[in-house]
Amino acid sequence: MTVRSASNTGDTEKNERTSYFNLPALDVSIAFPQATPASVFPPCTSDYYIFDDLLTHEEKSLRMKVRDCMEKEVAPIMAEYWEKAEFPFQIIPKLGALRVTGGTIKGYGCPGLSITANAIATAEMARVDASCSTFVLVHSSLGMLTIGLCGSDAQREKYLPSLAQLKTVACWALTEPGYGSDASSLATTATKVKGGWILEGQKRWIGNSTFADVLIIFARNTTTNQINGYIVNKNAPGLTATKIENKIGLRMVQNGDILLKKVFVPDEDRLPGVNSFQDTSKVLAVSRVMVAWQPIGISMGVYDVCHRYLKERKQFGAPLAAFQIVQEKLVRMLGNVQAMLLMGWRLCKLYETGKMTPGQASLAKAWITLKARETVSLGRELLGGNGILSDFLVAKAFCDLEPIYTFEGTYDINSLVTGREITGFASFKPSASSQRSRL
Ligand SMILES: Cc1cc2nc3c(=O)[nH]c(=O)nc-3n(C[C@H](O)[C@H](O)[C@H](O)COP(=O)(O)OP(=O)(O)OC[C@H]3O[C@@H](n4cnc5c(N)ncnc54)[C@H](O)[C@@H]3O)c2cc1C
Repeated sequence: MTVRSASNTGDTEKNERTSYFNLPALDVSIAFPQATPASVFPPCTSDYYIFDDLLTHEEKSLRMKVRDCMEKEVAPIMAEYWEKAEFPFQIIPKLGALRVTGGTIKGYGCPGLSITANAIATAEMARVDASCSTFVLVHSSLGMLTIGLCGSDAQREKYLPSLAQLKTVACWALTEPGYGSDASSLATTATKVKGGWILEGQKRWIGNSTFADVLIIFARNTTTNQINGYIVNKNAPGLTATKIENKIGLRMVQNGDILLKKVFVPDEDRLPGVNSFQDTSKVLAVSRVMVAWQPIGISMGVYDVCHRYLKERKQFGAPLAAFQIVQEKLVRMLGNVQAMLLMGWRLCKLYETGKMTPGQASLAKAWITLKARETVSLGRELLGGNGILSDFLVAKAFCDLEPIYTFEGTYDINSLVTGREITGFASFKPSASSQRSRL
């Protein structure tokens, strides 16, 4: 991976060098004077149907607070950290000060947001940087929420206040090397011993796990054969987390492979509310709504950058924005964003009135990520060569969307969840006849 370009670092060394043909090398700012990089984030032009009108006063002000922080604190440094595949730890206190972590949880120092407010904060983070949004989502809507919904009062008192201030960080470990979409078959074991449990197994892809203070681990109870949940301390003997290298998306998020070798967890850190795989669905119902809002934010940011870029960049003597084909693509992106926003908003309202079904949440996550894929790919095309540079956001967003298309249930798995709900037929497992024909 390359580091920043000379134009962004202010490094003139490159410009003074002579070229291969012994001609003076071009000054980058002269070679490409016309477009502002995403380190100076553009104004929000993607809210065309004035979605703000559907929000309460509190939701609107949270939206502006998060937007302001992301544009001022994260946009100037994100391309550099993304390229280095490092997490910018210096922004953690700033994200903590937004008072969004803990999301919908009430009490224990958590903000008790409406799900709509939580979703909007998620999207506003993703509009500027999807890695930051994912960091918060894993910490808050998976890690903290599991303690909030499935923990005991004592566990909530002990863990949530410092997690809510981002003084400590959580991660959430369900996926294993051998069980991704088929997570309910997971193989990590929890064996009862005097005073606690021994965990043994492996986890894969776990966001924040290389530095998290608190790890939520799901394991199979060797007595009941059911899935249980455990709060594991980062210093527990036998626990290691190794960073997964070479990701092409969400490069700032530190995803890890976790190894659990006879890790002892005291009885008081077993989550009493997780007694089967179904118990994780209370958490996933909320986190899936949040994940559905990430591609909305990503698409908004990509549209906003394109909107500015196309007016700045000239070809054939006119701004790119003046060409008919360019306008059609920009308008298609804008239409997608409006439809995504309205679907996401309706999903939140269904949740708030207790009507949301798993199929509705899955349809939103699947369809919104599908439309977002189209949107970022149009954006990438519209920026020409600069559409492959992380400096202009679009290439970065294009790559960041790919893991989001896959995590929290892939597009296919979420489609099958909705398919099961609307048809009454579960088609996750190959039928007995198709298995026979392979033999
Ligand atoms: C960046 C990133 C961050 C993540 N963070 C976390 C985390 O914090 N915690 C955590 O627990 N997990 C995390 N995950 C794991 C994520 O949830 C899984 O990657 C996801 O569930 C898919 O599992 P898999 O990668 O093993 O793919 P597989 O399950 O092997 O699927 C491969 C392909 O087969 C398709 N497929 C599988 N089964 C079926 C079926 N029945 N019918 C039709 N098609 C099917 C899938 O749709 C997919 O296209 C993360 C993953 C990524 C990439």
